Amino acid sequence: MQTSTRNTVLLTRSRTAVWHPCTQMKQHETLPIIPVARAQGCWLYDCDGRRYLDAVSSWWVNLFGHAEPRINAALIDQLQTLEHAMLAGFTHEPVVQLSERLSALTGGALGHCFYGSDGASATEIALKMSFHYWRNRGRPAKTEFVSLAGSYHGETLGALSVTDVALFKDTYAPLLRASSQVPSPDWRTAAPGVSPREHAIACAQALERHLEQHHASTAALIVEPLVQGATGMAMYDAEYLRQARLLCDRYGVHLIADEIMTGFGRTGSFFAHEQAGIVPDFLCLSKGITGGYLPLSAVLTTDRVYEAFYDDEITRGFLHSHSYTGNALACRAALATLDIFEQDRVIETNRKKSAQMTALTRELAAHPRVRDFRNTGMIWAFEVDAAGPDFGRRLFEAALKHELLLRPIGNTVYFMPPYSINEEEMALLATRTLELLDAA
Ligand SMILES: *Cc1c(COP(=O)(O)O)cnc(C)c1O
Repeated sequence: MQTSTRNTVLLTRSRTAVWHPCTQMKQHETLPIIPVARAQGCWLYDCDGRRYLDAVSSWWVNLFGHAEPRINAALIDQLQTLEHAMLAGFTHEPVVQLSERLSALTGGALGHCFYGSDGASATEIALKMSFHYWRNRGRPAKTEFVSLAGSYHGETLGALSVTDVALFKDTYAPLLRASSQVPSPDWRTAAPGVSPREHAIACAQALERHLEQHHASTAALIVEPLVQGATGMAMYDAEYLRQARLLCDRYGVHLIADEIMTGFGRTGSFFAHEQAGIVPDFLCLSKGITGGYLPLSAVLTTDRVYEAFYDDEITRGFLHSHSYTGNALACRAALATLDIFEQDRVIETNRKKSAQMTALTRELAAHPRVRDFRNTGMIWAFEVDAAGPDFGRRLFEAALKHELLLRPIGNTVYFMPPYSINEEEMALLATRTLELLDAA
């Protein structure tokens, strides 16, 4: 790719001084690093003015496009009053309001909101809280966690322990606590002729067998509701969540919904678990929570859990903290994000957008090399047959030349655009991806 001097200088400096995430840095001897000079709406612009459609919402965090005027205005206003104050022993309007509004979005079922700084810290919080709840309730033997095959819950040691993605996990295996994995209801793994719902029920039976045997030592089941993202956008029937909720109740095991990716409208409802008509014991939120502006995460839980920690004894309390817990700027960005959901009737609007995008991808879905084309809410994914080695990297590079930011996972290509994507941009995304497949 032709790069200007300004682009080249910045990417060379970045390669030297910045250790980029989830990257074998040596690959950047040939693979370009894109210097982002600015961003607007769905587009990132490099130092040379070249543009890239952010079809992955900057790693799944952006909801309403870059430089959203209403979020910008809220942050500028917040900057004039309070940027940050510690949350132990202190509080402020944005954190109180955000907690109240998030709780209201669960119908009040999850009335207590604990804050972290990123997704992985939310997972850590939920795991520790669940274990500590059982300990406070006189069940200290409940120390184990169960997750789904192919699950992703973050990459700090505790979160990685319940993650099941070999590429991220295997190297660190000696550092991790053992956890159990039960079969994923991912409908692609269903036997021929078995419907996604039937497959979900069969997988729930496997979960039941596990819990039957191990409930006395199991604290919680952690799941990504409806879509398992990082393993390659595995999608499954909501029936699994209904059954998992029943089983967790029957066997006295917590249900942790990791909605770090699926929350905030991504799957078509505000929270994905709503589609199963259930409420989890813990709800982990991050990514879209600030509209993609600032790092923030939250774990919501029930009165029942909260009360188990409420005591004269200090160590029965949840003695967990992060320095930036409840950061006022991040909370204010989150409040502005919730305002936009109301002002723009986002869930309703997205329903139309989702149908439009699905119609625009009809030809792509029918492409001879495309397999298992699927869609949930504002996520589309498919596998590419005969992809060959290094497919993801090659498609990423080819897409950049066609103004698209795509970041395949193995041979899975997915679209997870900002909700603000318009019809023209959706058409561009669908057509250019089709052209890329034809050319590849
Ligand atoms: C991204 C993600 C995480 C981890 O969040 P980070 O902010 O990257 O630590 C955890 N769970 C799910 C489902 C995610 O998609």
